Amino acid sequence: MVDGTDNFPTRYLVNDACVLLHKPNVYGSIFRFEGQASVFFADKGPCYRCLYSEPPPAGLVPSCAEGGVFGVLPGIVGTMQALETLKLLLGIGDPLIGRLLLFDGLKMEFRELALRKNPACPVCGVNPTIRELIDYEAFCGLSPGSPSGGSTELEITVTELKARLDRKDELVLLDVREPHEYEIANLGGKLIPLNDLAKRVHELDSSNEIVVYCASGIRSAKAVRFLTEVGFKKVKNLKGGIAAWAEQIDQSMASY
Ligand SMILES: [Zn+2]
Repeated sequence: MVDGTDNFPTRYLVNDACVLLHKPNVYGSIFRFEGQASVFFADKGPCYRCLYSEPPPAGLVPSCAEGGVFGVLPGIVGTMQALETLKLLLGIGDPLIGRLLLFDGLKMEFRELALRKNPACPVCGVNPTIRELIDYEAFCGLSPGSPSGGSTELEITVTELKARLDRKDELVLLDVREPHEYEIANLGGKLIPLNDLAKRVHELDSSNEIVVYCASGIRSAKAVRFLTEVGFKKVKNLKGGIAAWAEQIDQSMASY
């Protein structure tokens, strides 16, 4: 399998599925000016979980929109993954099994780290605790019921929001993305980027019912936490954000 994902739930899902099916997992990831690639193949070396047994807390993971990615990087790392895939299919060369290739685009430098199988790995270790696929969104703290996922009372789904907007309920929509994202697609909400929220919070009226959204629901969850902390009682996070809206409500909306 080739891991072309940009989110942790899918990344762990792909890894665990590969381990359980005894398939190699051609991994690549990018952040800002840096890329990584490896081949995780539990039958012959470490898997992704040997390296990262658990995802970082949901609130700390910057999305591509927040963290930013140099546009050519996906091309460079993706091509390396394609090369590794072809080598595996053809059975030639030395695949990146047990090696993490690090690419620094600013220095134009490649480095390599040796990776070892972790005997305590929860999926490919000696006594694995994961023997079948699990709920990866909950595992990564992105859904209700998990410690960092927030409670359901603080969430609203896109279908509920659509119904409430159609009913013309009194709602204030708050968009906490960046202005360039707002230009691509928006729900007509008031725009206050997450980073400005603390200093612009006076622009909001806490007596209003406020639905906060961002691209995927992660930044808006942080905004909801912040607003609740400063005393807002009627704030809700739009689960799945603009992406869920574009998928389930308005397919004509530009997704990014
Ligand atoms: Zn492992």
